[in-house]
Amino acid sequence: MSRTPVQTLVATALLVAGLTACGQPLASETSLAQRKIKVTTTVGMITDIVRNVGGERVEVTGLMGPGVDPHLYKPSAGDVNRLEEADIIFYVGLELEGRMTDLFEKMARAGKPTFGVSDDIDRARLLPSKDHADQYDPHIWFDVLLWQEAVRKVGQELAALDPGSQGTYEHNTQMYLEQLRALDEYVREQIALVPEPSRVLITAHDAFNYFGRAYGFEVRGLQGISTAAEAGAADVQALARLIAERQIKAIFVESSVPRESIEAVQAATRARGWEVVVGGELFSDAMGADGAPEGTYIGMVRHNVDTIVRALR
Ligand SMILES: [Zn+2]
Repeated sequence: MSRTPVQTLVATALLVAGLTACGQPLASETSLAQRKIKVTTTVGMITDIVRNVGGERVEVTGLMGPGVDPHLYKPSAGDVNRLEEADIIFYVGLELEGRMTDLFEKMARAGKPTFGVSDDIDRARLLPSKDHADQYDPHIWFDVLLWQEAVRKVGQELAALDPGSQGTYEHNTQMYLEQLRALDEYVREQIALVPEPSRVLITAHDAFNYFGRAYGFEVRGLQGISTAAEAGAADVQALARLIAERQIKAIFVESSVPRESIEAVQAATRARGWEVVVGGELFSDAMGADGAPEGTYIGMVRHNVDTIVRALR
């Protein structure tokens, strides 16, 4: 349905009224309003939030592509430039991007809008790190409803920086939160297909504890919360014993962790007389390729759940 000239006039008048009601924008806000907001992010899951929430208003650069491990990631000189050129920076926080934490703190001190998407989450909703007593597990994206808090944070901070488009950010945030609610339901429906005793998820590193808590899975990772700590032969044997004793059908490799470690567990389990299969590749700390279904957060979660359910049901 097309608008009449009068309707267009009314709509324009309302838009102008809405803008001036917010108060006189600052000079820097005026110039920001006239171009796209430059956003630099770390992991793909945040890049995807910014694309969804920022839409046409943003130009987003994600530093960590498919297969990249954020725990070990060292920023290049080019990355530092991309952070300096950004109008706003988003990262996960909770020490996920271990080697970049100092850089983010430096940026924030210099006055650059720099935010961990986990900053505002009530600490009571977080899981403690198994590696460090005083830290939290940073893999919050695998509890889809918890990840909604990251979406809200991005929406709020973009609106604070670019208040002229606040309505757009709020609308886009609500639309994306709605998609995540549907995703959460999908995960619950699929998991229900796996018999309860089989709900054990064994992967290369401990990225799935939030998934386990949210969806009722027992989770064991060969390495710890961070891939920085290497698994030893004793860890491999301990996991192999558990798999053989419980007769677990499948274990999983991760796209951002070398597969050798999980294959060592498979070999050690075989030596104990139980044949466990590698049930497929999960996306843990990095998404799939751009343009592939797994290249979005929603596609990544669906891929993981479909892979887990197919192997364990
Ligand atoms: Zn991780």
